[in-house]
Amino acid sequence: MKVVVPRELAAGETRVAATPRTVKRMDRAGLAVHVESGAGAASGITDKEFSESGATIVEDRAALLSGSEIVLAVKPPDAATLEQIPSGAVLVATLDPLIEHELVKQLAGHGVSAFSLDMVPRIARAQSMDVLSSMSTLSGYQAVLLASMALPGIMPYLTTAAGTLHPSKVLVLGAGVAGLQAIATARRLGALVWGYDIRPAVKEQVESLGAEFLELIDMSADAEDAGGYAREQSQDQAARQQQAMTAHLAQMDAVITTALIPGRPAPILLTAEMVSAMKPGSVIVDLAAERGGNCELTRPGGSFTSDSGVTILGPLDLPCSVPAHASLMYANNVANFLLYVCRDGRIDVESDDEVVVGTLVTSGGRVVHDRIREVLGQTES
Ligand code: NAD
Repeated sequence: MKVVVPRELAAGETRVAATPRTVKRMDRAGLAVHVESGAGAASGITDKEFSESGATIVEDRAALLSGSEIVLAVKPPDAATLEQIPSGAVLVATLDPLIEHELVKQLAGHGVSAFSLDMVPRIARAQSMDVLSSMSTLSGYQAVLLASMALPGIMPYLTTAAGTLHPSKVLVLGAGVAGLQAIATARRLGALVWGYDIRPAVKEQVESLGAEFLELIDMSADAEDAGGYAREQSQDQAARQQQAMTAHLAQMDAVITTALIPGRPAPILLTAEMVSAMKPGSVIVDLAAERGGNCELTRPGGSFTSDSGVTILGPLDLPCSVPAHASLMYANNVANFLLYVCRDGRIDVESDDEVVVGTLVTSGGRVVHDRIREVLGQTES
């Protein structure tokens, strides 16, 4: 089977969907891997390394995609690239299909079998394929470094001959994969850390990392759905949470927000009024910026300093700022997925395997994923 890895074209995208190591694994599994020249450059991987690991390097994009049976990518293909992918080919990428409805329709219309790795079910056997977890790990880590660089001081407690420095106080809102990594990173940098989430299951995890869990409102098991994700709060719950949080905010030097609800805009956890209660010089890093942000003042992709002197950063695509590790993790996720779904040299798109059903978005010219069909209003037939 011809497996191709195009160079990512999206602005700012530094990752690549394969590494020399994953090429070797695919090669051993009998897949013929073709990599576009320069695909690994931004991640520090040369054509020579890909070639030595068994890949064929192709200069011309049209030639690369011609006859391709499996396309491995990070971002969805642009319209011109999609045109060059043969109808009936398999695409493995991060498609954000619950939000990107037009893209889903185009993929269906083109007849590709599109698997979206951000839809991998949260089950034990799929953990190694879970791109949301691997990329969130990097984002959580990077968010704390950003906060640290934007603060007017350093994070740890230091007693020096020139005076005592008190540790920074860091609050992490949303303690999923990114939030827990942010907590661990802030602890490693010597900060005093608090964590908060609406899912009660998280309290123990926050405490196990040496942070204190902030109990703001009564939490119930209902806050979590069957997939382990948070459910959207009622307006009343959100208002009570905001009110209870305001008193804590005034103590904090940095707040890292990571709260997301799958397929929904990010919940607002910090209103402009709450930000005005924070100390001048304090910093908010809003990792939910891609979904609009957890802070009302966030400018996705930019930074903003409020009248009261609080800096709000809304970074997008943080994993792209550490391309070597982001590509290593992403490519491993892709290879683990591909080698799981590709059996005896073919991918059975009709399979009732939970991983296939959970990730396959389009096939045979139609949208086949139940939840996405529902969102698109295609529930009958
Ligand atoms: P996510 O990125 O969807 O959300 C981040 C966090 O924000 C979550 O912990 C969520 O509860 C929290 N949140 C949402 N609304 C909030 C609000 N209003 N206030 C405060 N917090 C709010 O979540 P995620 O990091 O992808 O992880 C979700 C769950 O899935 C976690 O329990 C994680 O450990 C679990 N998980 C399981 C597997 C697996 O078993 N394979 C893999 C990855 C993650």
